[in-house]
Amino acid sequence: MSIKIEKKITGYSVVKPEDKVAAPKVAAAAPKEAPSAEVIQMHESVERPETLVGSTFKIKSPLFEHALYVTINDIVLNAGTPYELRRPFEIFINSKNMDHFQWIVALTRILSAVFRKGGDVTFVVEELKAVFDPRGGYFKAGGVYMPSIVAEIGGVVEQHMKNIGLIHDPEMDEATRRLIAEKRAAFEQAGTKKKADVSAAPVGAASAAKASGDTESSGFPPGATLCVKCNTQALVLMDGCQTCLNCGYSKCG
Ligand SMILES: [Zn+2]
Repeated sequence: MSIKIEKKITGYSVVKPEDKVAAPKVAAAAPKEAPSAEVIQMHESVERPETLVGSTFKIKSPLFEHALYVTINDIVLNAGTPYELRRPFEIFINSKNMDHFQWIVALTRILSAVFRKGGDVTFVVEELKAVFDPRGGYFKAGGVYMPSIVAEIGGVVEQHMKNIGLIHDPEMDEATRRLIAEKRAAFEQAGTKKKADVSAAPVGAASAAKASGDTESSGFPPGATLCVKCNTQALVLMDGCQTCLNCGYSKCG
């Protein structure tokens, strides 16, 4: 559009690019409250601080000759503000065992990259825990069945995310909790009279059931078999019905 100048030009000024940018910014910033500190979310270009805090977990599996040491380091975003958020930033896995070096390096690199991408990263837990070893899994202390070493790494990542408050355990409702306690008490009472006739059952490898709860301390009756619902050796026979003393699952409904 052209403008016809009819008067004499008595003065002029050049509009600089920064003036153009500044003008709408002032207008936009005005209605905002003054002390609005920016909340930093996790994204790829968040720089790694010199020091990170973290935890190291030890995994001992009969499938591995040596223990695996899994270190997960966290970044604390918006420290000291109400928006403080602790998120995993990187993962390292160390072992004397070099047989699995390739895929372990690949796995840790990809996991670290996912952590740094931002957004919801808790999905990696379910992905890892769903991996099963075709040669068969193994039992951890506490009677929890691990379908593979990768699944156990997933379990460690889950535990870490629970520790830092990124994953919350679903609250078991009071009724279920009471029911399990009652069943357990009844079972233990019956057990004192006669030994439960459940043998240490060999367990098939390909249990695709998802582990929904971890039990660090065992405490389940010896001879308890694997519960398909929670992957824990806590299934006992009560009144002719397989009942799980860990999650309350019952074959008879
Ligand atoms: Zn169960």
